[in-house]
Amino acid sequence: MLEFKHVTKRYNNGGDKEAAVKDLNLTINKGEFVCFIGPSGCGKTTTMKMVNRLIDITEGTISVNGEDITKQDPVSLRRSIGYVIQQIGLMPHMTIKENIVLVGTLLKWSQEKKDERAKELIKLVGLPEEYLDKYPHELSGGQQQRIGVLRALAVNPPLILMDEPFGALDPITRDSLQEEFKKLQKELNKTIVFVTHDMDEALKLADKVVIMRDGEVVQADTPDEILRNP
Ligand code: ADP
Ligand code: ADP
Repeated sequence: MLEFKHVTKRYNNGGDKEAAVKDLNLTINKGEFVCFIGPSGCGKTTTMKMVNRLIDITEGTISVNGEDITKQDPVSLRRSIGYVIQQIGLMPHMTIKENIVLVGTLLKWSQEKKDERAKELIKLVGLPEEYLDKYPHELSGGQQQRIGVLRALAVNPPLILMDEPFGALDPITRDSLQEEFKKLQKELNKTIVFVTHDMDEALKLADKVVIMRDGEVVQADTPDEILRNP
């Protein structure tokens, strides 16, 4: 599903600074929930951004579904990858419905299709349909974050990248969102790559935990193995 081969990233403006990601080799299978964990600055976000093609890869290749991402049409790549970040950035002047189906609008979906999809999605996170007509500022932070997740799911991408999606939330909201999300992942059989700096969160959610330090993968294993061989 997602494969990294000898992936290295150097930021140009860093001069002779060390690479942000060094020779990353990793295979993520379909339906797998993989957590990237490591201290701030170890290269987690850089890795996500390369998959998304928000930044260029310096060396090596990343493949999605067996195809080199640099050879794929950017539009179809965007449709096959959902991206959730901590600063979800809902559009303040758009309703929740319009926010959820934003990508559908870009793809010129009919109004009926958008209405239907938005109703279907909001059920997944336990919010009432009436919320579709509200504006982002009328929702709590936790509720907004749920909407951010739905936006990434709207066009039904097989691969979802989440970069500290629940980082700004209080522990209780966070716990309930983690559970909802894990359930969602199982039901929809999505491949999830999840970035966190919280080991408890990683051990709780992941099928595989990838530990990074200074741009390198130092361990990639199941939570059980990580607990046995820390
Ligand atoms: P993490 O997500 O694990 O906190 P990042 O991927 O954001 O780490 O950063 C990895 C390294 O790359 C850090 O040393 C960071 O300072 C550097 N870096 C990140 N973004 C840029 C950028 N746009 N330009 C230059 N260096 C960057
Ligand atoms: P709840 O969902 O439990 O009603 P919130 O999610 O509003 O509560 O608040 C939980 C935490 O998220 C608080 O620490 C708050 O500072 C933070 N927070 C609230 N709104 C936002 C937002 N729009 N973006 C980021 N963080 C937020």
